[in-house]
Amino acid sequence: MKRFAQTCEQIAATTKKLAKIAIIADYFAVSTPEEAAVATIFLSGRPFPAWDEARLQVGGALLWRLLRELSGKTDQELAAAYRRWGDLGAVAEQVLPAKEGTKPASASRQEQRGGLVNALREPGSRGELSAIEVQNRFRQIAEARGTAAKAALVRELLSQANPGEAKYIIKIITGDLRIGVKESLVEEAVAKASGSTLQEVERANMLLGDIGRTLQLAASGQLSQARMRLFHPLGFMLASPVESPEEALGYFEDAWVEDKYDGIRAQAHCSISEVRIFSRTRDDITQSFPDLRDALAGFPQDAVLDGEIVAWSSLAAGPDEPGRALPFSVLQQRLGRKAVSEPLLRQVPVAYHVFDVLYANGELLIDRSLSERARILDGLLAAPRVPARTQALPSQLVLALDAVEPRSVATVVRAPVFRASSPEELERWFEAAQARGNEGLMIKNPQSRYTPGRRGKSWLKLKRELATLDVVVTAVEYGHGKRIGVLSDYTFAVWKGAELVNVGKAYSGLSDAEIAAMTRWFLEHTLEEEGFRRVVEPKIVLEVAFNNVMRSDRHTSGYALRFPRIVRLRPDKPAEEADTIERVKEIYEKQGGNGSAAGSSGETLPG
Ligand code: AMP
Repeated sequence: MKRFAQTCEQIAATTKKLAKIAIIADYFAVSTPEEAAVATIFLSGRPFPAWDEARLQVGGALLWRLLRELSGKTDQELAAAYRRWGDLGAVAEQVLPAKEGTKPASASRQEQRGGLVNALREPGSRGELSAIEVQNRFRQIAEARGTAAKAALVRELLSQANPGEAKYIIKIITGDLRIGVKESLVEEAVAKASGSTLQEVERANMLLGDIGRTLQLAASGQLSQARMRLFHPLGFMLASPVESPEEALGYFEDAWVEDKYDGIRAQAHCSISEVRIFSRTRDDITQSFPDLRDALAGFPQDAVLDGEIVAWSSLAAGPDEPGRALPFSVLQQRLGRKAVSEPLLRQVPVAYHVFDVLYANGELLIDRSLSERARILDGLLAAPRVPARTQALPSQLVLALDAVEPRSVATVVRAPVFRASSPEELERWFEAAQARGNEGLMIKNPQSRYTPGRRGKSWLKLKRELATLDVVVTAVEYGHGKRIGVLSDYTFAVWKGAELVNVGKAYSGLSDAEIAAMTRWFLEHTLEEEGFRRVVEPKIVLEVAFNNVMRSDRHTSGYALRFPRIVRLRPDKPAEEADTIERVKEIYEKQGGNGSAAGSSGETLPG
């Protein structure tokens, strides 16, 4: 790990891309393939390969607490170091005590335990943590249940590392190395070190979702052996925003158009005997959707589908619709749950709107055009399937079971595709999508390939903005990266009678000059300093835009704005004239919220 940390320091010291690539390639050249494989994953800012669902679940607050404990510093001293050095990893390097010699304090205990731990250390450097050992510890941390168990493991790891290593261990835990390296640059280094082409490396990494495994294949000249593996999610193709129908048609003239559903993106991997559903973060979310798993069962062949899961009401159907998507706030109740109860399955039925197929008939389809994939998808969905529940049971028994306990089964819908070649046509589809309660349109080039993990101009999104809200800033935090020295993260509130209640937190939207001016103001108008955070005088009004309003127990208001963005400062507006909780409720109800409280959610929530 020491050599990995030193390499990161060298990478950070240059801004030149080619120099960074050369440093990484040199590091690979003097490492074993196993060690280099782990390093590629760490350099991509992850503890585990992309396909792997294991998560550390160690937050900034826990790391802060451990740093305070291991360094003996006060909150104020840590906060000052944080402002100066910019991230917790860099703070750790400054505040943790240097190790005497290279032998970790607890080495003798480790040695007594012997076996695996020592075998995993770098050869020839007994007592030092290897990158492989660190990943092994990460695995234990991910598997540990509960904060106390995780804290004990992180504490042990940090106390065995020297400060330079701890810096990068923490950066990997927080998911951001800040050395100017992205996974694409690591791919270039793998290509350079192995003499493969960048294209070969990119393709293998895309198929495997594992830059470490890709490096190992490259090292043995076997990149062409990389195959997509069922139940290992591929990256998702992403869309670029457009402002108007005219702009959209500037990219391609003959457009395929679908409604933009407000749910969660899901990749379904289906075999004859098993179905697993993955989220955009490549987490396995099958447990939240047992009904959808059943509805997708029984394909006569392996298939990988791409689509959006939405909350669904078949009662609210129009004359030509089988049903209608409900807003995200309804779906939210199904997310992030380990198990979904029968009543909840019935209360929040879902539909999977399938709009693409990535694998079928034993063939990876991503290089085929959208129009060809659409044809294959239509055939696949039209073919008869054997519903999961009836697979092994005689039909009388199924009928009898349903009579006792009717089971809700999710709907699988082929997302309808429309055509448009003029702005007027697009405008009409946009209005129709909105009338159906959907967010806007996805506009796709029928000639385009499926490009996993890339945001290109082959898929475009046209969305409506909801109304904006004028809110009051109640607390502020220092930002990250280049915003480290300035107060750029704002928690904001609306009025509930004479009280301000928080509804969200926003990070972006102001210019650097505005942020600098606001920082000066907030420093002078702090009511309470709490380490990272300052409670400030509630005087500053912001106008914020957002995707929608959700029920949330995260904020005192009981609501949260989803994806809030600062539109502008409103120095013209006194805080007393900011918006109220009634207005938030009104927007929530207008968007079709169902009023039920939802707890934690698996989707990104505003802070
Ligand atoms: P955004 O999250 O605003 O970047 O918009 C892109 C997201 O829209 C995708 O990741 C999907 O989750 C979602 N989406 C909704 N409907 C569609 C559709 N018909 N085709 C592709 N993506 C869709």
